[in-house]
Amino acid sequence: MTEELFRHDATLTECPATVVAVGEQAVVLDRTVFYPLGGGQAGDTGWLRLADGTELAVADTRKETGEDGLPTGRISHLVAPDQREQLSKIKQGDAVTARIDAPRRQRLMRFHTASHLLCHIVGQPVNGCSITPDYARIDFHMTEPLDKAALTEQLARLVAAALPVTVGSVTEAELDANPQLVKSMSVQPPRGSGVVRTIRISGAGAGDALVDLQPCGGTHVASTAEIGPVVVTKIEKKSAHSRRVVLGWGDGAS
Ligand SMILES: [Zn+2]
Repeated sequence: MTEELFRHDATLTECPATVVAVGEQAVVLDRTVFYPLGGGQAGDTGWLRLADGTELAVADTRKETGEDGLPTGRISHLVAPDQREQLSKIKQGDAVTARIDAPRRQRLMRFHTASHLLCHIVGQPVNGCSITPDYARIDFHMTEPLDKAALTEQLARLVAAALPVTVGSVTEAELDANPQLVKSMSVQPPRGSGVVRTIRISGAGAGDALVDLQPCGGTHVASTAEIGPVVVTKIEKKSAHSRRVVLGWGDGAS
């Protein structure tokens, strides 16, 4: 198992770790700050630094799967093809520092939280989602048209409200009793441990009203204010029952 430090603290950008396995193109560590592709969110990129100062570029991060195709619980740091020489220097038991491309991850977190706000605004089931550093697209299972300017304005209002975003959990039994919590038709929350991780966006002001609560394994900003300027760049009718909303960065976004 790889200890998944990003699950509890999405602000961590580096950690010391020990090499557990070295493959032809991948390195497995005992613990990591690298988020593996999942739940629509792209895998992290970054670097592994060896004790002698050698830096190995990580081009992507994936959950390792076994021969049966099931996840092994380990995380693979995929090394870029031009890193063979550096990869040959690394071996099992080595101490490394794992460091993500923090500005890139920050953009992924901001878009991921923005996509949850969009779930709240649109209020329809999600049947597909892809979050990248440059854009995010969310497919809603619906037939009604959506308005680009209206969505952008509602997003801006929720961003400006600086609503707190918190990690929590529900038991699988609670989830079974409240199936409406699952907004996604395409991604089911991982089960088996008895509890499912949730992301809650609380409302502003008295009563702390709920804006959005859903099972999610992704990384998020701590306040909607951190999202900054986002705009709906495109709305596409993917099929009779699907509307795709594409988010991009607005003017002045870093
Ligand atoms: Zn999510």
